Amino acid sequence: MDSILNTIGGRQIAPHSEKWLPNIEPATGQPYGKLPESDVTDVDAAVQAASAARDAWAELGGQERGAHLHALADAVEARSEELARLESIDNGKPIALARTIDIPRAVQNLRFFADAAHTDRSEILRTGEQAINTVIRQPVGIAGVISPWNLPLYLLTWKIAPALAAGNPVVAKPSELTPATAARLGEISIECGLPPGVLNIVHGSGGIAGEAIVAHPDVSAISFTGGTETGARISATAAPHFKKVSLELGGKNPNIIFDDADLDAALAGSIRSSFANQGQICLCGSRVLVHASRYEAFVDSLVDQASKLRIGDPLDDKTQQGALVSAAHRDKIMASVEHARDEGGEVLCGGGVPDDLPDRCQDGFYYRPTVIAGLPMDAATNQQEIFGPVVTVSMFEDDDEVIEMANATRYGLSASIWTRDAVRARRVAECIEAGTVWVNCWLLRDLRVPFGGVKHSGVGREGGEEAMRFFTEPKTICEVP
Ligand code: NDP
Repeated sequence: MDSILNTIGGRQIAPHSEKWLPNIEPATGQPYGKLPESDVTDVDAAVQAASAARDAWAELGGQERGAHLHALADAVEARSEELARLESIDNGKPIALARTIDIPRAVQNLRFFADAAHTDRSEILRTGEQAINTVIRQPVGIAGVISPWNLPLYLLTWKIAPALAAGNPVVAKPSELTPATAARLGEISIECGLPPGVLNIVHGSGGIAGEAIVAHPDVSAISFTGGTETGARISATAAPHFKKVSLELGGKNPNIIFDDADLDAALAGSIRSSFANQGQICLCGSRVLVHASRYEAFVDSLVDQASKLRIGDPLDDKTQQGALVSAAHRDKIMASVEHARDEGGEVLCGGGVPDDLPDRCQDGFYYRPTVIAGLPMDAATNQQEIFGPVVTVSMFEDDDEVIEMANATRYGLSASIWTRDAVRARRVAECIEAGTVWVNCWLLRDLRVPFGGVKHSGVGREGGEEAMRFFTEPKTICEVP
């Protein structure tokens, strides 16, 4: 069995307690390795290593930090196929997705913030003839990074790259369900000469290792992506320490199909936004809202195409739907669909586990792409994040009604709108409570734009300058000449 180690102070080390957690392959349901069950002592060692590296990393300057990040990006890119395979085995996602989305985006994250490190963000503001204010931005301190299992290397690098670029050492904890690519990143960072202590990766459970990072008095900022309940807990732990906190949380995103939409494009986009990564992307459009005049035809096509998605071994190049991340998550999705039936929902396709899996995957954590109709917006199925290959379909009559439906949850992460009418698109987009609204597309990402959610979908924004601002503190130096 493969053992994963922590990366602390530029070394690969076992947990001090010698306690380990099993690492399960979702496609087979079998353990294939183990990871450290780190605790507060391991986290403290990582924070000490980060403290020791802190001043030198901050003083290195943006150019050199950028060069280190470019070297890391090159090294990750050179190992793309190995990392894609690891991600697919560890998470259950189709290898084709890991090759085309997860790993290329991790490289892009590192490169983007390597370049961002070069920019001097100081500002000069004159107070008439009286004074000159220089606003400089300094690193925030040790950055605590906690990331989820759905896009493991993609979301980890999305956080560590700006933290490092801005001059902070990092203590990161990836999800215990998907530690493999993060562990490999730790090894790669050592191989390509990142100074010891600058990037520390501590594996273990959220409740122990994650909490220890959030509660550590020497960690100045927490960047978290994960579930809304975990985000609330992290806020409560961090608040008495007055830490900076950025929270990217859950979503229940509307995907709106107007009567004047290009229906082929809307259908292709909806299949992706409903079922990509088995629906385990916070941005997935889990509520499909279709204009009454198009409802029947559109829903028939959606069901037809969802039923034809190729479910199989994630390591098979042709697989379109892989395994869910864990047995517990598969069971939660099953229970959600049962609850939808109890609420009066009609399951139009899916609603169970596939019965034609390859031999190797017989004990894997699979669930068929599922479309549910006939539920009001206030039904639990339309309110709670399921985070799996399950969408509801609902009908609307006019723009005002669909805006009300779109906003009728506690979440506000993203939305998609499909229409040929640019004026309508802009009006509806402005009325939807969400951090991102896509028009005639989904998951089209420019790394410069702010990314995040409103309401229970998060606090703060990531991406571009927002991330660089989060990982720095402004200081005003007011000088009278
Ligand atoms: P969780 O909230 O369960 O976990 C996220 C991370 O937090 C994991 O590393 C987890 O560790 C850790 N963690 C758990 N409890 C604590 C704690 N008390 N203190 C510190 N860390 C803790 O989310 P999932 O991993 O299940 O991810 C799915 C969720 O993430 C969904 O709700 C999804 O919408 C959201 N998400 C949001 C995104 C966004 O950008 N808004 C993007 C992607 C996902 P461990 O795994 O070991 O428990």
